[in-house]
Amino acid sequence: MAKKPEGLLIVVSGPSGAGKGTICEILREKLPEMGYSVSVTTRAPRSGEKDGSSYFFKSTYEVKGMIRRDELLEYAEVYGNYYGTPKKYVLDQLREGRDVLIEIDIQGALQIKKRFPEGVFIFIVPPSLKELSARIYKRRTDSEEVIRKRLSSAAAELEYAAEYDYIIVNDVAEKAAGKVLTVLDAERYRVARTYFIIDEICHEKG
Ligand code: 5GP
Repeated sequence: MAKKPEGLLIVVSGPSGAGKGTICEILREKLPEMGYSVSVTTRAPRSGEKDGSSYFFKSTYEVKGMIRRDELLEYAEVYGNYYGTPKKYVLDQLREGRDVLIEIDIQGALQIKKRFPEGVFIFIVPPSLKELSARIYKRRTDSEEVIRKRLSSAAAELEYAAEYDYIIVNDVAEKAAGKVLTVLDAERYRVARTYFIIDEICHEKG
């Protein structure tokens, strides 16, 4: 009998300031049974961020050790800090048939796509560059220098949209999250993920 498929690997990505964090928070509330990959980072915690929930906050020495031991599915240096996705958690969840959400920058998403082309790759974009700039300034969590770096890379980053499966404009986060849920619903019915049902029907004992 055909095996039931693994869980869905859902990668939510896009330029910083596009609002992927807020969308992922909404998705986690709506889909509490879904796994969520907590990244490691060497950046300092922002106020309100908890170790093990927002990120696993690590030293550069620790992250380099994880890279050497091949414990990260991918990693990238973003604005002078390391960020990486712990491998074991993601692989274990998928094997157990649980969906896993990864919120990640574009470099990381493209690395994951090479290893998991069957994942669902969702690109979140702001309605305009002007709006993106307003959001990043409003956030007030970064230095002027980091803000400038984020803005100057955003326009170039939008060009990577073609590598993804879906583009979702984040105008109002609740609505954008609703669109992601619609995408995920459809993805669950793909033949590659549902063919086992045909097998079950054909082998039904009557
Ligand atoms: P922030 O410092 O604002 O939390 O995140 C900075 C950027 O790093 C964001 O674009 C965020 O999505 C990205 N990021 C977070 N976790 C990871 C990760 O595990 N790997 C990679 N490559 N990027 C990440």
